[in-house]
Amino acid sequence: MIYKCKNCGGDMVFEPSIGKMKCPFCDSTECEEVSTGSEIKDGDVATEETAQELGYSAAGNLLCPNCGCEIELGKFTSALRCPACDSNIIVDSRMKGEYKPEFMTPFKINEKSAKEMIKKKFDSLRFAPRDLVSEARLKKIQGWYMPTWFYDMDTTLDYYATGIQEKKETKGNTEYTYIDSFDVNRVMDAKFNRLPVDAADALPDEMMDLLAPFDTKESMPYDSRYMSGFYSEQYNQSADQLRPRAESQVENFGRSMCHDEAQSGSHGRYNRTENENLKVQYNDVSAHYGLMPVWKYDYTYKDQPYPFYINGQTGKIVGTAPVDPKRVWTFAAIVTLVAIAIGVGLSFMLDFNFLLPVVVGLIIGLIVGFTNMHPAAGKVTVNSATYVAPGDKKVKVSTDVYRGRETKTRQLNNN
Ligand SMILES: [Zn+2]
Ligand SMILES: [Zn+2]
Repeated sequence: MIYKCKNCGGDMVFEPSIGKMKCPFCDSTECEEVSTGSEIKDGDVATEETAQELGYSAAGNLLCPNCGCEIELGKFTSALRCPACDSNIIVDSRMKGEYKPEFMTPFKINEKSAKEMIKKKFDSLRFAPRDLVSEARLKKIQGWYMPTWFYDMDTTLDYYATGIQEKKETKGNTEYTYIDSFDVNRVMDAKFNRLPVDAADALPDEMMDLLAPFDTKESMPYDSRYMSGFYSEQYNQSADQLRPRAESQVENFGRSMCHDEAQSGSHGRYNRTENENLKVQYNDVSAHYGLMPVWKYDYTYKDQPYPFYINGQTGKIVGTAPVDPKRVWTFAAIVTLVAIAIGVGLSFMLDFNFLLPVVVGLIIGLIVGFTNMHPAAGKVTVNSATYVAPGDKKVKVSTDVYRGRETKTRQLNNN
């Protein structure tokens, strides 16, 4: 299906800044649907006539409802732009039945703001290639509705660890370290709410963790009008197939929740915990299918892809900017020379060996060079509190059993 402007016949797109469809040509917000007629399911056999009637060519390719050209659809593609006429096409047959999203979060950040955010974030990067934020390169930015599974998991966490408390004491010339150990057990019920796992191969797994959280309270029931102007895919993997990734999040969050809980026991805080062991019992699990807004900017540098992603709801940017080694090492060389010049100057004034500042300067230069060669991709900003509300956890068992004391001694040199 495509959406046409009632006023001028132009191709309507969803405009995040007004939360409505808008014609980019005449600014009208009135539209009409033009069906692709694609009522056949993928894989159905159709004769040449019925296929054409239904919006597919005899070869099984989608026919653009606007210009009629044949479009070879990707295996999972559900929304795209016609490469010939730039119409925004929504493949209805791929948004039906089990593939109909339960909800979606419409884009809040439009293309212009997404580009500005990337510019702002990476313009200040001293060592990035100069065209990283160029207008020409940024044209490649695309809005994607990422198919995402959200898991609600009602769990019981059973956690064991050895809690260690350390005390130091000095008597005369001897330092005593008392190491008390405890068997720590915590059992708690915890309800994880809307744990996201991306279901598109187009988005690397770890990126979802970096892009999260998405506020699902702002989600809407699925509506194809939000899709126009964006790309989308059906889920590439089922909720059952991706469940292990949700479970590994539960284990990580669960361990840190129990670890925190261990600090509030009858024997007070522990300096550290060892031999942590967590068993998770899944009492009830349900998965919900949603589409999340992500801007995707594919930048290529020296044949290496550097994908950047922006959470289309919150504006959080993730991705690693490439560095131009020439720019890094030129800068490192300048730092080195300045350090050496100052050091050697001092060596003559203060009368020490001038080789010392030369060595120190080279070391500083190497450190500056290597630390700038490897910038970071972004930070994970979610924690267990993002998914487990305070009222959704309940501690059922909290025991700390004293195991005994180990004493270490150390002789001190009292000068
Ligand atoms: Zn128009
Ligand atoms: Zn077309």
